[in-house]
Amino acid sequence: MSEKYDVVVIGSGPAGYVAAIRAAQLGLKTACIEKWQNAEGKGVNGGTCLNVGCIPSKALLDSSHKYHEAHASFNKHGIAVGALEMDVSTMIARKEKIVSQLTGGIAGLFKANGVTALFGTGKLLAGKQVEYTDLKGKTQVLDADNVILATGSTPIDIPVAAVNGDTIIDSTGALELTEVPKRLGVIGAGVIGLELGSVWGRLGSDVVLLEALEDFLAMMDQQIAKDAKKIFTKQGLDIRLGCRVVGSEVNGKEVVVTYKNSDGEEQKETFDILIVCVGRRPFTEGLLAPDSGVQLDERGFVFVDDYCSTNAPGVWAVGDVVRGPMLAHKGSEEGVMVAERIAGQKTQMNYDIIPNVIYTHPEIAAVGLTEEQVKNSGEPYNVGIFPFAASGRAMAADENDGMVKIIANAETDRILGCHIVGPSAADLVQQVAIAMEFGSSAEDLGMTVFGHPTLSEAVHEAALAANGHAIHIANRKRK
Ligand code: FAD
Ligand code: AMP
Repeated sequence: MSEKYDVVVIGSGPAGYVAAIRAAQLGLKTACIEKWQNAEGKGVNGGTCLNVGCIPSKALLDSSHKYHEAHASFNKHGIAVGALEMDVSTMIARKEKIVSQLTGGIAGLFKANGVTALFGTGKLLAGKQVEYTDLKGKTQVLDADNVILATGSTPIDIPVAAVNGDTIIDSTGALELTEVPKRLGVIGAGVIGLELGSVWGRLGSDVVLLEALEDFLAMMDQQIAKDAKKIFTKQGLDIRLGCRVVGSEVNGKEVVVTYKNSDGEEQKETFDILIVCVGRRPFTEGLLAPDSGVQLDERGFVFVDDYCSTNAPGVWAVGDVVRGPMLAHKGSEEGVMVAERIAGQKTQMNYDIIPNVIYTHPEIAAVGLTEEQVKNSGEPYNVGIFPFAASGRAMAADENDGMVKIIANAETDRILGCHIVGPSAADLVQQVAIAMEFGSSAEDLGMTVFGHPTLSEAVHEAALAANGHAIHIANRKRK
C-alpha cells in the first residue's frame, strides 16, 4: 500500500517549504520532497534562495561592503586603517556557514510542525499520485489529496556564452569564486548581475556589465534607475547599455567576449571571469508524467489561475515555476495562500503590492506602479520626492545618495507606488507597502508621526511632498 498524505509538496525552496509548514499548521498530513544535495551529498532544504540565491548573495554583499567601507570611507570618520587584506576563502566560508545554519533551520521547522521531509526527486503522475525516488534511487508512489508543485527556476544559459564552470560561470559559480578576478565581465545588468558585479567590484575587480537593453533597469521607475546608474558608475561599475553579447571565445585562462553596441558595431572585451546573468527560467525537468494533466504555458511556466490552481484538479503550483516576479517572498505568500485554500479558507494574494529590491549599495527598492506605468494608464497623479541629501540621518551616516519617490492619485491621493534608491531602501519601501495594503493616502502617511532622526523621515517627507507641503525641501509649484 502506498503512503497517503493530505498534501505532498515537490520542492522545498521558499515557496515549497512555506507551503508545507502552513499546511501542517492547519492540521494537514504533509510531506515535502526535495532533491537538492549539499557538497557532502546530503539532502538539504531551502532551494535556490537559501543555497545559491538570496541569502548567500546577501552574505557576500555584506562582507564586501564592509571591506569597501574600510578601504574607501573609514578615513572620513577619522579611522585610519593600515594595509587591508581580503581573505576570500574566509568570506566564502562565512557564507557557507550561514547557508548551512539556515537550511538546517528548515529541517528544524519541518520537525516542529510535523512536516515529513523526504530527500529525493518527485514526479507527478496521473490522479494526484507522486512518484518519489529517494537519494539512493529507491522509488515509491505516494497518494495525495493535494499536490503542490514548487520546483523553482534555474539560470538561463545562452549558447553565445556557454557556462564552463571555469572562466564562464553563472550566478552559482559567482558565489563560489576563490579569488578576486582582475577583469570581470557580467552579461546582463539586471538584479542578479548588479548584485554579483558589486560584490567583486568592491573587492577590487574591474567590472564591465554588458546589457542588451538601451534602458538601465527597464522595469524600474526610470527616474530612480537613472539616479542609480549615476551612483553605480561613480562607484566604478562600467555599465554598457545597448550591448548585446553575440559570442565568446575561451583562450586558456581568459575569455574574449564579442558584443554589438547600440550602433550595431562589433566590439571585443577580454575578461578573466565572465558571469552570465541573463535571467532565470522555470524548472520542470522530469516533474510531470505525460498524463499528469498539468499544462505549461508558452514560456514553460506551470499554468495556474489567480489562486495558483493548475489545470489538474487538486494540483497547485507556486513560486518561480509559475508566472509573476521571480522573488522568494512572492512564492512564500503563494505557498501560504495555497495551503490555506486547501484547508478550505478563502485566502487571496495581492499581486499588486509585492516589494522588489536590488541589494546594491545603496539599495534600490520598489513597490506598486512606476511613474511610466501611471502615466501610460492616463490616471492623474502627483509625485513627491525627497532626496537623502536633505536627510539629517542620512548625512550623519554619510549615505546622502539617492531619493524616495512616492506617486499618488491626484484626485483620491491613494498611494500608487513608491520607488527608492538609497540607504536601507529595502526596509523603507516596506513601510509604504504596508500603507498601500491598508489603502493609505499620501496624506495618511504624511500625518503619521515619524521618529527623528531616521531614514524613514525621507518616506514621510516624500509623502508630504506629493501634496506640496514637504518641510525640509522646497516644494515644487503646483499647477
Ligand atoms: P527554488 O528556491 O528554486 O526551489 C525549488 C526547489 O525545488 C529546489 O530546491 C529544487 O532542488 C527542488 N526541485 C526541483 N525539481 C524537483 C523535483 N522534481 N523533485 C524534488 N525537488 C525538486 N529573491 C528575492 O526575493 N530576494 C533576493 O534578494 C534574491 N536574490 C537572489 C540572488 C540570486 C543569486 C539568485 C539566483 C536568486 C535570487 N532571488 C532573490 C530569487 C529567489 O531565490 C527565488 O525567487 C526563489 O528561490 C524561488 O523560490 P521557489 O521556492 O519557487 O524555488
Ligand atoms: P534579470 O532578468 O533582471 O536577471 O536581467 C537579465 C538581463 O540580461 C536583462 O536585462 C536582459 O536584457 C539581459 N540580457 C539577456 N541576454 C543578453 C545578451 N546576450 N547580452 C547582453 N545582455 C543580455
